[in-house]
Order: sequence, then C-alpha cells, then structure tokens
Amino acid sequence: MFDINALVRKNIRSLVPYSSARDEYKGGEAIFLDANENPFNAPLNRYPDPRQVTLKEKISAIKKVPPAGIFLGNGSDEAIDLLIRAFCEPGTDNIISIKPTYGMYRVCADINQVECREALLTQEFQLDIPALLNLADERSKLLFLCSPNNPTSNCLNREDLLLLMKSFPGLVILDEAYIDFSASDSLITQLQNFSNLVILQTFSKAWGMAGIRLGMAFASPEIITILNHIKYPYNVNILTQRTALEHLRDTTVKDSWIRMILEQREWLRTALMNFTFVRDILPSDANFLMVKFDHSGEVLAFLTARKIIVRDKSKVPLCEGCLRITIGSPEENKLLIGTLQEYSRQRSSVINKF
Ligand SMILES: *Cc1c(COP(=O)(O)O)cnc(C)c1O
Repeated sequence: MFDINALVRKNIRSLVPYSSARDEYKGGEAIFLDANENPFNAPLNRYPDPRQVTLKEKISAIKKVPPAGIFLGNGSDEAIDLLIRAFCEPGTDNIISIKPTYGMYRVCADINQVECREALLTQEFQLDIPALLNLADERSKLLFLCSPNNPTSNCLNREDLLLLMKSFPGLVILDEAYIDFSASDSLITQLQNFSNLVILQTFSKAWGMAGIRLGMAFASPEIITILNHIKYPYNVNILTQRTALEHLRDTTVKDSWIRMILEQREWLRTALMNFTFVRDILPSDANFLMVKFDHSGEVLAFLTARKIIVRDKSKVPLCEGCLRITIGSPEENKLLIGTLQEYSRQRSSVINKF
C-alpha cells in the first residue's frame, strides 16, 4: 500500500499550517471584526474563502470528485510548484518527466533546486517506459506526465499511463490541461484505483479563462490536505472565485466553444496540408497544431511581420522545423491561411527567377 507520509518532506509532515481568521470562524453571516479588514468598500473589503467551499462544491458536481479531493490554485502552475515543494528535498530528491513537454515542471524543479530527469519520447511521441523507469531511483518522488502533451499535441497511450501508475513508487502527476479537446477520456476516474495519482486540469484552455488564473488538482484527500497546508491562505481571490462560479452555471457555452475549436482544427489542418511547403502536421488531441514547415524560420518571420504570432518549436527535440499554432476564431484562422497563401506566391515568384 502506498504511504503518503513516507513520501512527503519531514518539515512539511510536521508543519503547523497558518490559521487564518476565516479558518477559525466558519459560522456564516456575522459582524466580522476579526481580520482587520476595512468595513467599507464591500464586497471587495473581505478576504476570500481560503477553502473555496462553494466553488469546490460546484466543481465537484461537474467532475464527480468529492470536494476533499480537489485543490484550487493560482493556475495549475501553483499546484506544480506546491507538489515539488511538498515532496522534494532541495539538493537531494529528483523528479522524472518526459522530453519534449510543458516547460513549467523543469522550471519549478530548478527554482526549488530539485533535479529534473527527462526521458525522450519515442519517434511516435509516446512514452519510452524502460527509459523512464531507468531514470528513477529511491530519491525520485514525482513523475510528471502530460496528456494530451504540450507541445506534441497527442495523447499518451492509456495502457502506458496505467502501467506507470502501478509501477512508479512516487506520485504520478498527469497534466490534463487539454483533455477537453481530446477524443480520449480523462483518467480522473482512476483516482479511485491509484492513491499515488494527481490529475491537473485548468480553466485556462477549454473554459476560456486564462486571465482569472484558476487551476485544479484532483487527488486523494491525504494529498490535497498537504497542498492546502502549504498554499498561501488566500491563494484564489474573490474576483476569480466569483467569475468561475458564474461561468460554471452553464457548461453548454464551454461545450459549444470546444465544438467550434474542434471543427476549426480540422478545417485548419486541411487548409494547411494544401501548401507544398507544409511537410507534416502532427495528429492533435489539443487546441493547437504542430506544423512542420520546409523553412520554418522563414514562415515564422513572414507571419510575425504581418502580426500573426505563432510559437517557434523548431529547436525542440523530435519537433525540428515545427511551429505551434493555436486554433483561433474562424476569422483568425482564415487570415492565417490567407497570409500563408501570400507567402506561397512570393516564394514561387522568387523560385521562378532562378
Ligand atoms: C496551458 C497549460 C497549463 C495551464 O496552466 P495554468 O497555470 O492553469 O494557466 C497547464 N499545463 C499545460 C501542459 C499547459 O499547456
């Protein structure tokens, strides 16, 4: 049986967490003279609910995870940082991840002076299980995986993920930031089977709220309690909690955005494949396309000069020559294709001169 207490850092295990005024009085309506707040300028004068009870109840109903199994943070990035700080002893412990993947796992590890060991994905952008397990030793506390993966845009094989949950001795953190755009199901249902599993999701992508900074971690109540003990007491502000609640009332709006983005993803793929200078487009389960160009630097410069900004991933291992293009609105996508047609005409006129 997996023992969370053996994994967590000693100082965190014995920590007496900060107790805020709002933690100590939970009786609802009252005259609040306990937190040195300003009595004027309601409702912004009050500290937010440090446990985000109402918001968690709403998320719980949607995600079918009990509130005690939910952590909310200032973006998923907060959860990534807290996991490393809770479980990895600086200068001693290490985390395992894949290459290429989301950059924040390594950056958070670096900031905390925790070694980050990365196993290159296979040519099919799948997990190299022996290579991953080879990197692990008794000081490997966390395994960070991302599916659909950023920047490769594909889902990792479900059987591989389940195998790692079974065999990795530390926590397996599965970042599902793009899961709403995927044909594959979330592994959130596996929380019942694996007490070492942490699922990360976010309001930044499908929910269209990157600006309010709200990320979710789903895990066993034991793991969530540890994260709650070390987070800033008021890590999710009033405006964020309120805005998220408003948008959670009607999920059909989000669903219609997802449908539109998926339609546009296929439209964009077809349109891009018509260009002779587009060599390949990786299969995508996300809201972006990894497009391999004949001369990616040239295309990038041409687009940038016309104020169309895409992400250069041409130097990323396994992604040589690729630009990462987010699926925009139908108008934005048409503009992108129109601009690439212009690039195509200029190219062929240059070639014809010789
Ligand atoms: C965009 C993204 C996130 C979202 O991070 P937030 O801090 O919640 O905005 C998380 N993981 C991956 C892989 C991403 O690409």
